[in-house]
Amino acid sequence: MDNKKLAELLFPQIEQTKEEIENSYKKRDLPQGARVTRFAPSPTGFLHIGGLFAAFVSERAAHTTDGVFYLRIEDTDKKREVENGVTGIVKGITDFGIKIDEGMLSETESVGDYAPYIQSKRAKIYQSYCKDLVEKGLAYPCFCSAEELNAVREEQEKNKENPGYYGKYAKCRDLTLEQIEENIKNGMPYVLRLKSPGDENKRISFEDGIKGTIEMPENILDIVLLKTDGIPTYHFAHAIDDHLMGTNYVIRGDEWISSAPIHLQLFDVLGFETPSYAHISPIMKEDEETGGKRKLSKRKDPEAAVSYYHEVGYPNKAVLEYLYTIANSNYEQWRMENPDTPMEEFEFDFAHMSKAGALFDLVKLTDVSKTYISKLTTDEVFEGVKAWAEEYNKDFYELLMKDTDYSKSIFAIERGNEKPRKDIAKWEDTPAYTEYFFNAPEAYDFPENLSKEDMIEILQKYKKVYNHNDIADDWFPRVRDMSEALGYAKAPKFYKKNPEEFKGHVGDVSSVIRVAATGRRNTPDLYQILQVLGEKETMDRFDRAISALKEEK
Ligand code: GLU
Repeated sequence: MDNKKLAELLFPQIEQTKEEIENSYKKRDLPQGARVTRFAPSPTGFLHIGGLFAAFVSERAAHTTDGVFYLRIEDTDKKREVENGVTGIVKGITDFGIKIDEGMLSETESVGDYAPYIQSKRAKIYQSYCKDLVEKGLAYPCFCSAEELNAVREEQEKNKENPGYYGKYAKCRDLTLEQIEENIKNGMPYVLRLKSPGDENKRISFEDGIKGTIEMPENILDIVLLKTDGIPTYHFAHAIDDHLMGTNYVIRGDEWISSAPIHLQLFDVLGFETPSYAHISPIMKEDEETGGKRKLSKRKDPEAAVSYYHEVGYPNKAVLEYLYTIANSNYEQWRMENPDTPMEEFEFDFAHMSKAGALFDLVKLTDVSKTYISKLTTDEVFEGVKAWAEEYNKDFYELLMKDTDYSKSIFAIERGNEKPRKDIAKWEDTPAYTEYFFNAPEAYDFPENLSKEDMIEILQKYKKVYNHNDIADDWFPRVRDMSEALGYAKAPKFYKKNPEEFKGHVGDVSSVIRVAATGRRNTPDLYQILQVLGEKETMDRFDRAISALKEEK
């Protein structure tokens, strides 16, 4: 067979040679050990938390070694594409503080020397490499129809043989140039297949950064390189791209492990250096129905979509911190030992990644996020809440913005002290958290152990002794003194010793005051709350509570 002639026949329009392309992509000049990694999603617009996690791990793997992390868009499957899918993905990643050094920035813009970073703009590049493979006798056109391939599959099933296009089933492998010319003249559609040099008795093995040594049978399939429309398959396109873009560490979901023999063979046949691999296990979730574990599902779990975290208002950095905890098993220990160190300083590594799949746990995320928010400044909290409310809760946004100093003073309560409270996990919690600052209580959760009359007495007395100018240190002694005067123990321990001597203790008294002012039994520091509410509002609230108690039957 005259391969050169065949190559010309199949690719007359391809003028640029493989060598010319190779020369136009310069080798990266990076320090020893620097990893070049990429995130390579399809532009479906939907970013799964597993995708974000893979992007995060890839970014860390690159940036902890002074390497490069880039975003490549794999849009060879046009069916899956949505409008502005690229921009959505870029935003989805960068919002979380994951820095993209190179690659696509939007549907049309990109940054970096290895462009185009989107596969649909690289068709000619792939075809040049195909032309070269055909010239070398390593690829051939296949004219088999869908029906013929189905018949092959059925026969293989019947004979309990491995499925696929190989050996005696690879009918087009040995077509003559004349037959090919004839088919093409007749307008028969064809795909381009790899002439696999694989041997079914041989095995391949590679070191996976996360999973360890992986051994599998060598690939013997004549896989499709170019589809009938001249668009490459993922297998082929990614190999060319990873080579030209200088990727030396491929980090991706472990659903690709089964394709690794194909990929290693492709790198070999193409004369490329093989990259290192790390295959990430999918993010798992406890399954309430079965008690076991299952993959986090786009259909069943709202938290599978990255957009969910925005909608409910988890701060991006809190989500990122959580990703650290599920990425590396030693992160939490490090965080405990270094509570105030920026998370970027943690030394991420593959060795501490779960082989089985990180378990995603919203309760844990909530915990991480509460701690994160508890350490923010008042202004940071305010800005976070504001941005969230503007997008997702317009009424609350209006309320917040009416008097921003007042709103900030709510978030300032018990903030900045040594043990800040952890009341807020996500911005969506804040309308309920701040409710009583904007509206006097409608209902009161008064303690059950005091009579209505006792509570009225407490509030009336407190109104008299209350001094809005008290400093924090004087506030509680005033409540305590008043409690004693009304026949309550000044500390719970005295009450416990001789309960018959008292009506209750100071805790009951402050509880009545708290509920009168806020409607709730549990709140942050009551002194600070009353300071924020202001003297007039505080007094009004006590009056309202007294009236409500009086009206009660
Ligand atoms: N486009 C592939 C995917 O979305 C990329 C796999 C890879 O990272 O190589 O799964």
